[in-house]
Amino acid sequence: MRHFLLITAAVTASLLLSIVAHAGTVALVADRLIDGVSDRAINDAAVVIEGENIVAVGGRDVIPAGSQVIELGDMTLMPGMINAHEHPQLYADDYQNAHLQASSAYKTLRSLAALQSWLLAGWTTVRVMGDGDVYYGNMDLKRAIAEGLFTAPRLTGAAHYISTTGGGGDMHFISPEQGVTPDGLIVDGPQAMIKAVRREVMYGSDWIKLMVTGAFHAVGGDPKNLAMSPEELAAAMAEAGRQGVPVAAHAHATAGINAAIRAGARSIEHGTYLDDESIELMVEHGTFYVPTIYVGDYYAGSDKLLAQAKNDDPYLQYRDEWLRLIGQAHRAGVKVVVGLDLGSTPVPDTGVFAREFAVLVEAGLSEMDAIRAGTRVAAEMLEWDDRLGTLEAGKLADIIAVPGNPLKDISTLERVGFVMIGGQIVRRPGETPSLSGALSKPDGGSPHE
Ligand SMILES: [Zn+2]
Repeated sequence: MRHFLLITAAVTASLLLSIVAHAGTVALVADRLIDGVSDRAINDAAVVIEGENIVAVGGRDVIPAGSQVIELGDMTLMPGMINAHEHPQLYADDYQNAHLQASSAYKTLRSLAALQSWLLAGWTTVRVMGDGDVYYGNMDLKRAIAEGLFTAPRLTGAAHYISTTGGGGDMHFISPEQGVTPDGLIVDGPQAMIKAVRREVMYGSDWIKLMVTGAFHAVGGDPKNLAMSPEELAAAMAEAGRQGVPVAAHAHATAGINAAIRAGARSIEHGTYLDDESIELMVEHGTFYVPTIYVGDYYAGSDKLLAQAKNDDPYLQYRDEWLRLIGQAHRAGVKVVVGLDLGSTPVPDTGVFAREFAVLVEAGLSEMDAIRAGTRVAAEMLEWDDRLGTLEAGKLADIIAVPGNPLKDISTLERVGFVMIGGQIVRRPGETPSLSGALSKPDGGSPHE
């Protein structure tokens, strides 16, 4: 009899465990859910979170009794957005001059505020593609965020953009007798390249960023200039391979794009003048493609950026053809990824960052494929797809919700109303979000004003 009671107690306890929530279990419920895996949204859906992880996704029947249920109504739950190309420490439109005017410490503190404002806009992960910092403030910030000292997007990436003399990371508008340190990390020759890659990794870079060609947004630089020699590119690739870190290649000129893909870059950044061969090569090599389209639209025809005058005609005349090629690349099987490249420039509303999704739709991606480009596919590129990028049991609870249905109106991604990172809610609908020190509107300007 006593034995029977014990068994009954054990069975009852296990039953209770299966239907009653653990303390602190949270369930998010909304009219729709995009999990990043399925081609369709799930209606009347729920996500269950324990601690920092998702433990169940499905209908309301997956919610354990006793959970704290948060009803979001006519919203769509989806994975937190991943910005795969960013420079948080570039804080002004005239970024190369600003770089000369502020210390590493100032840039780092300011970038923390910008990153927190992006988190509140739904960006839960950011890949840094080098920054205007002579030191390694971004990598120290990555460490401090990972240690839990600040609530901010998860960071990965490269401390600097490695450029050659006169390349996309150099300063073309400083007289030769002025010994300033440019925003890019300038190296020439294979041996210097090997040392630069080693230093980047030693001080925290998880990626190597190479400026294989010139840049649109560097004053005086020519994006069609193939800046890096084959020997320098090969040396960087080989050393990054030895160090076990992937390479992201900034490349506009066709020859630079194709050389970087052949050399084994994991991602092509911008890839503006890609051609049919580039597309074939990216499919063959499994290369990810981060076009960063919206930043071009943001600056086109404006006088905001010092380097803009040289961009307007080539960019605006070429834009339709570029979008056509991006659509062609997507249909051919190239893994297109969302990246913004706006830096912490003074935008009136951080919602504009999500316009990259709309331009990908304009290029021919479906709304669902555009969302995956900024969630699941981006996580795959980062090799973080074991923990991020989809709403599935076992993944980290990086979850956002947008009003209405982004599959019908992609611009809803500009109005994120709910944000959770690692199980922590940082924004709720109808509440004014705040993180300690977060700028709701990064206001730019001079550090000396
Ligand atoms: Zn960039």
